[in-house]
Amino acid sequence: MQRNMFLTLIFCLTIGLVNAQEKLVTSPDGKLVVSVLVENGIPTYGISYNGKQFLKKSPLGLETNIGNFSQGLVLSEKADQRVIDETYELPNIKQSKVHYIANEVVFSFLKENKSVFNLIFRVSNNDVAFRYKVFTQEQRLVCVVNKEATGFVLPEGTTTFLCPQSKTMVGFARTMPSYETPYTPDAPMGQNGGGEGYTFPCLFKVNEKGWVLISETGVGSQYCGSRLIGQPDGLYSIGFPMEGENNGNGTAAPGIVLPGYTPWRTITLGETLKPIVETTVPFDVVEPVFEPSQKYRYSKGSWSWIMKMDGATVYDVQKQYIDFSAAMGYETVLVDALWDTQIGRDKIAELAQYGAGKNVALFLWYNSNGYWNDAPQGPRGIIDNTISRRKELAWMKSIGIRGIKVDFFGGDKQVTMKLYEDILYDANDFGIMVIFHGCTLPRGWERMFPNYAASEAVLASENLHFGQRSCDNEAFNACLHPFIRNAIGSMDFGGSALNKFYNGQNTPNRGSKRITSDVFALATAVLFQSGVQHFALAPNNLTDAPEWAINFMKQVPTTWDEVRFIDGYPGKFVVLARRQGEKWYIAGINAQKELLTLKIKLPMLVGNTELMVYSDDAQLNGKASSVKLGKKQEFDLSIPSNGGVVIVN
Ligand code: CA
Repeated sequence: MQRNMFLTLIFCLTIGLVNAQEKLVTSPDGKLVVSVLVENGIPTYGISYNGKQFLKKSPLGLETNIGNFSQGLVLSEKADQRVIDETYELPNIKQSKVHYIANEVVFSFLKENKSVFNLIFRVSNNDVAFRYKVFTQEQRLVCVVNKEATGFVLPEGTTTFLCPQSKTMVGFARTMPSYETPYTPDAPMGQNGGGEGYTFPCLFKVNEKGWVLISETGVGSQYCGSRLIGQPDGLYSIGFPMEGENNGNGTAAPGIVLPGYTPWRTITLGETLKPIVETTVPFDVVEPVFEPSQKYRYSKGSWSWIMKMDGATVYDVQKQYIDFSAAMGYETVLVDALWDTQIGRDKIAELAQYGAGKNVALFLWYNSNGYWNDAPQGPRGIIDNTISRRKELAWMKSIGIRGIKVDFFGGDKQVTMKLYEDILYDANDFGIMVIFHGCTLPRGWERMFPNYAASEAVLASENLHFGQRSCDNEAFNACLHPFIRNAIGSMDFGGSALNKFYNGQNTPNRGSKRITSDVFALATAVLFQSGVQHFALAPNNLTDAPEWAINFMKQVPTTWDEVRFIDGYPGKFVVLARRQGEKWYIAGINAQKELLTLKIKLPMLVGNTELMVYSDDAQLNGKASSVKLGKKQEFDLSIPSNGGVVIVN
């Protein structure tokens, strides 16, 4: 039935001009239409939704060192089409079981009567994914893609919510770029960040109320990570990494074995932010790359570094954090940088054994270096090559280490994407999970790599420690992530601090001051998602934080069965709901100066039931209270500036 419907919705037409060919692909519900067009040998595509244009005629094609496949092209009349109807498990991000239904059409492009590439479109109700399959030419079995013509042209009047790409070899120990530049909300088009474009994912507001999120997925060792380059007239085109990344080592242009695929470019769109908050497209179109060597555990943990910094990576403090994690019912402690010199290998083994006695396992920090930047923290010179890495992983396995956190990567070049993949692959052989920091965006990795835990790739909690300005902007930034960064992948933020002050003992007026409420901290534990979380809690919080807050942090899940957008606007406020089993967590925060009042509908909850509600008064004093949900399943929310709310059934 569905197939028949789909076939009738796909047609080819030769419009007035002799040298133009246009073909359409529609979504299963018929609302989203992709049109692929070749005019005078130049391929383009556009997207409309409910009859409104969301992407104007946008460029396609590739320039390679075996031919320019962006002009002189002919679109073959024959297009292979099929319906994809697939369910899969996604235990570590957003939605534990996914049902993906899409119409796939494969267009063949010829140049001088020879096949040069296929363009594969997968169109579901609110998502478009496409990629190229490039073919061999004569004796050429490999190619370098020097440039992609691929771009995205947004309609006039579109505003942007973008994270500029950093310049290379700048910042701490020349470790950038690492996806840590601030966003500007509602900015006009026609700019190009600080001159280097924008990192994925990129959010656009179109047609007054519509939204478009552009990203990419399925990037491993077979390609580089890309970015968007801002051009005139609403065009954002695919850009490869900058030559200077990785200290200039490795090529910026990716190489592929032929026939070979480029990564999927993804476009999520709709008339509200709901499709963006709820999208699973980064995972729908990728496949697991290797089998898990064991069942991996997603879990909560604590880490001393966020409050106590480098000096506290010592045996006694880590032991105290093991006791703290045990008291919280958490499964892990993340031992951060410098443990190699400040604790030592023998004592780490002892610490791991001590933790095992309390059901607390360790994550160990490693420097990714390497020859790509000056990051001085140890252990260095181990993870960058397979020989020392595998030896180290075998040692970790022998002492029962749960995972590693690898920091300070060199950028997005193909050589670095291969390093990420190699680390994950080797670690899986030893049953070790991997968190990346100072790193790129994960691109479908939650599904591709079974031992993948999380990535930073965001202006994360460390910045709250480093400066008051980040604390002052905490709510603003937190109101962006559910719509942008965290919408497409696990985000290792390392937050939910209950210390009032970012210092070792929560001593007043030392270090930066948290201006958000305790309920806000609880809400971000729900809003920010990663299957593995190390919260910025400290042992002193057992006595200096409200009991209801500690109890909440003990039981909040890190994995979810479902997510639902309720309301929000990037940078202003957000309310969403996540479900684990029968339990719903409805979480909201407010970054605006004024009190936010909202009447929300909670149809997922049963009427006439008691709910636990965590809320703030005007002075940001939090409380937990039991509130009865009425028959109409409506709830009046009131969230002060820098405050939050969480509702649990
Ligand atoms: Ca960082």
